[in-house]
Amino acid sequence: KKEQQKLLKGRIIAHLGKALIVEDEQGRTARCKKRTQLQQPAVGDYVEWIKTEDDAGRVENVLERRSLLSRPAKNGQTRPVAANLDQIVIIIAVKPTIDPLLLDQYLIVCEFQEIKPLIVLNKVDLLDEGSRKSTDELILLYRNLSYEVIEVSAVEKSGLDKLRKRLKNETSILVGQSGVGKSTITNSLLPDLDLQTKALSTASGLGKHTTTSSTLYKLPEGGDIIDSPGVNIFGLAHITEQNLAYGYREIKHLAEHCKYSNCLHLKEPKCAVKDAVETGDVSKKRYLRYLKLRDKLAY
Ligand code: GDP
Ligand code: ZN
Repeated sequence: KKEQQKLLKGRIIAHLGKALIVEDEQGRTARCKKRTQLQQPAVGDYVEWIKTEDDAGRVENVLERRSLLSRPAKNGQTRPVAANLDQIVIIIAVKPTIDPLLLDQYLIVCEFQEIKPLIVLNKVDLLDEGSRKSTDELILLYRNLSYEVIEVSAVEKSGLDKLRKRLKNETSILVGQSGVGKSTITNSLLPDLDLQTKALSTASGLGKHTTTSSTLYKLPEGGDIIDSPGVNIFGLAHITEQNLAYGYREIKHLAEHCKYSNCLHLKEPKCAVKDAVETGDVSKKRYLRYLKLRDKLAY
């Protein structure tokens, strides 16, 4: 059978086994391989592809990305996980208790990759008077840094409309430690999740139990959610000492006022960051977490 060589436009919406599922501009899907020389495309990539069969094809080119989230792989390389993300939705929850150090780690990656974070506090139905107060303090700290924080209860379905609004017409990924409610939230955002999953496994031709590395789901209101189960993209091992400091946006902001341009805000004289910690303009808690992460990364 002769190949149709016409280049078509499409987007990678899943990576199933070795198959890339490409959706064309009419919303039809095709099971694709990639051209041998081509770098590995990621879910979310806009591509040019050619049809080789009715429902199959080959990805020829990856179009320019506005962002790329990768994860560290063996021998110091990275593997692309999600392309063209507009935002990273960081889910934290009242239970298990909020881990601010982990939250900072997510934010550092967002700053480093230049992808907008959205912080979602789930399970607010479990707040009592005591935990409400400490939680408010934490939320205020991040809001004062101009991070957006929204409160939801996936179980009581409160705050979800606000979340939907923030996800509309954007490509997002939901991240957070296990148990914070990612699946519960994803299920309420995607009423037809099962249908979309079935359609993809049909498109792959590989059956139900193919391991999925990454999938892009469509929100009913417009916009997409990329799901990458079990993928740890938030290791900081590849982040340099200087970039760790830049990951704290208030530190980055003040760093130009430090005496030394390469100041790491440790023991250097005339450090604007340490001065600001003294006056309370920079949160001491955040600064201590910065030091703690430096220790953890053994710089
Ligand atoms: P995941 O590991 O992040 O995907 O978390 P799950 O979605 O599996 O949720 C973990 C547990 O938290 C489940 O027992 C959920 O029912 C529960 N859960 C999720 N959202 C809420 C919430 O808003 N309030 C309460 N009280 N429990 C919730
Ligand atoms: Zn400094």
